[in-house]
Amino acid sequence: MEIIDTHCDALLKLQEDYRKSFCFSNDHSLMSYKDSKELDTNADKLRQGNVRVQFFAIFIPQAVPDSEKWQHALEQADRFYSEVLAQENFVHIRHFKEIEDLKAEEVGAVLTLEGADAFGNDIMKLRTLFRLGVLSLGLVWNNANLVADGAGENRGTGLSNFGWDVIDCCNEYGVLIDVSHLNVEGFNDVIGRADRVIATHSNARGIYDHPRNLYDDQIKQLINNNGMINIVFNPPFVKEGSVEIKDLFPHIDRIVELGGEENIGLGSDFDGISEYIKDLEDAGKYSNLTVKLTERYGSGFTKRMAYDNFIRRFC
Ligand SMILES: [Zn+2]
Repeated sequence: MEIIDTHCDALLKLQEDYRKSFCFSNDHSLMSYKDSKELDTNADKLRQGNVRVQFFAIFIPQAVPDSEKWQHALEQADRFYSEVLAQENFVHIRHFKEIEDLKAEEVGAVLTLEGADAFGNDIMKLRTLFRLGVLSLGLVWNNANLVADGAGENRGTGLSNFGWDVIDCCNEYGVLIDVSHLNVEGFNDVIGRADRVIATHSNARGIYDHPRNLYDDQIKQLINNNGMINIVFNPPFVKEGSVEIKDLFPHIDRIVELGGEENIGLGSDFDGISEYIKDLEDAGKYSNLTVKLTERYGSGFTKRMAYDNFIRRFC
């Protein structure tokens, strides 16, 4: 079954390896996107898991000084172009409608940005990222920035004035606004203004109370605004203790109960997580998930969740 996965952090791993092995030593043996075992989403694993389209987030860790963040963003964009897109039959998706034109052997790669920190308060940098192909913008990571507050640094405010400009710029370019990581006040502002909205990697807070998950009311607002809620595989967002694939079902059930059968999708967070769901440890294991989803929900629902809902909504 074909998969669209709306979040992974492979670019950060590729950038860190590039800096380590190329810039700071004589060892030029760079991590290969084709088959490096350090990567949950390498090219071989994406093929093995029948991932048709993988989103790749530019993500700058909080510890990077603001003055260096733009450089880091460009380095990760460079890894996307030089390493990911260099893989055989990998195709850069510059508009979502191109997904349906992919040939059987091709894998679509989507560039995204997680965290407006990368462009500071400079809308020109944001436009530059859009021109490089960024199709989805996560306004924040967990920390607050010049646009909004994150789920881990909630000062109780919504968007800044600059944040409103950022939303308008996304609307102008047809870019998705990703509300995963956003605080509730920021979420409410975005919902009222954004043309295209998605939570690329979040679960249901009514099932497990974690700041990275979405309240029932937020899920309903996403559904009412033609958005998507894409289930994330990071165990700390699913339940306490060890996590199996079936532990995702209550989250799925809740989103469906709220009316989101056609708004639900997948956003693994592979390469950004350090704990894993049993039997779902990398993109190559996606069939373990789709088999279990099919057993429980049927093939029609599973296919819609894995692929069709995104296509119908955004392509
Ligand atoms: Zn994230």
